[in-house]
Amino acid sequence: MKIINPDTILSPVHQSSGSAIAFDKTIHAIGPLQELLDTYPDAELIDLPRNSLLMPGLINPHVHLEFSANRTELTYGGFLPWLYSVIEQRDDLVNGCSIDCINSAVKDMLKCGITAFGAVSSYGLDLEAAATAPQKVVFFNELIGSQAQMADALFGDFISRLNASEAVDREGFHSGIAIHSPYSVHPILIKKALQIAKDKNLVTTAHFMESLAEREWLDKNEGDFKPFFNDFLKQNSAVNSAEEFLELFRGHSTLMTHVIHTNDKELEILHRDGHTVIHCPVSNRLLGNGAIDLDALEKHSVKWLCGTDGLSSNYKLDLFEEMKIALFMHSETALAPLASRLLESVTINAANALGLNCGEIAVGKDADMLLLELDSEPNEQLPLHLLLQHYPIKKIFIDGKVVKTEE
Ligand SMILES: [Zn+2]
Repeated sequence: MKIINPDTILSPVHQSSGSAIAFDKTIHAIGPLQELLDTYPDAELIDLPRNSLLMPGLINPHVHLEFSANRTELTYGGFLPWLYSVIEQRDDLVNGCSIDCINSAVKDMLKCGITAFGAVSSYGLDLEAAATAPQKVVFFNELIGSQAQMADALFGDFISRLNASEAVDREGFHSGIAIHSPYSVHPILIKKALQIAKDKNLVTTAHFMESLAEREWLDKNEGDFKPFFNDFLKQNSAVNSAEEFLELFRGHSTLMTHVIHTNDKELEILHRDGHTVIHCPVSNRLLGNGAIDLDALEKHSVKWLCGTDGLSSNYKLDLFEEMKIALFMHSETALAPLASRLLESVTINAANALGLNCGEIAVGKDADMLLLELDSEPNEQLPLHLLLQHYPIKKIFIDGKVVKTEE
């Protein structure tokens, strides 16, 4: 057993001082230091920096590790120009990202306080890195394929990747399923994959309504996607409408990523079916997709998280940076409450959506925690200052073990 007695705890919902925490793999007790020392006389007392803050480790629900080689290769500013640049550079980027490149992305996330992540895997090339990562991982095997004649081959490849990830035997590693998007996956494939997810109780995710091009293609078979589908895939019409796509997920709550160009009806369905939205502000800005309406999500009681997306549409896999960008992107939303909601989105809410027993400093939760050094005693706007100041992370605990200390 270990005991830690920080100056401040951010749970993340409650901010408190004067409490210590007794933990091993999980948090056993929270209370006055002397009480815990009496209960656990053999416990090791953890050293602390001045103005110490203990908070939950951050959870990044959406990253594409296989594209971690990108720095300046891809075209930013619009969704289709970016997509064409991905297609053109895909082989170089994917082959250029060795296991070292993926491991280094995983390590960079850890340094930024990310103790769990959801990895969307297109090819399975990131499986080994994810399987051996120090973090908790939900490994989303991605299914893609809009053409019926390719369906069997693509589904077979998806199943073999899913089987490989299910063969990983590591506590904290979980297999999941990603459906790429409504425009890129045939409904028959979606049904088959979701049946597997239901049978095996796997967490699911999908991209949904990321670009205006997607909206126009799904609604009218028009817009910037039209030449793309006509030329590349010889398709004249979308394989799903937005609503048909959402209906396929009824009864299986899913993490829906981006959700920028939605209407009220779709937001109602997202709420009705218990889906959770993942907001990736940097990616949305770089790909010219606009800004999600967080207030509309909240008006419809739709749960939302904040994620980094992959390095194919970001410059850093850092949730503190991502939350800061969100804070400035949503300039009409009240500032301090948004900071608090962002912090909850990458801790307790992300854990709930991914089915992980972490994301909160509470008895019974896994001891996935960050120890930070603040400049001074925090005031009631601590969540806001956490996003603005990038305070140094002095210790990171996953399952109660220190995984990285200051170099
Ligand atoms: Zn994505």
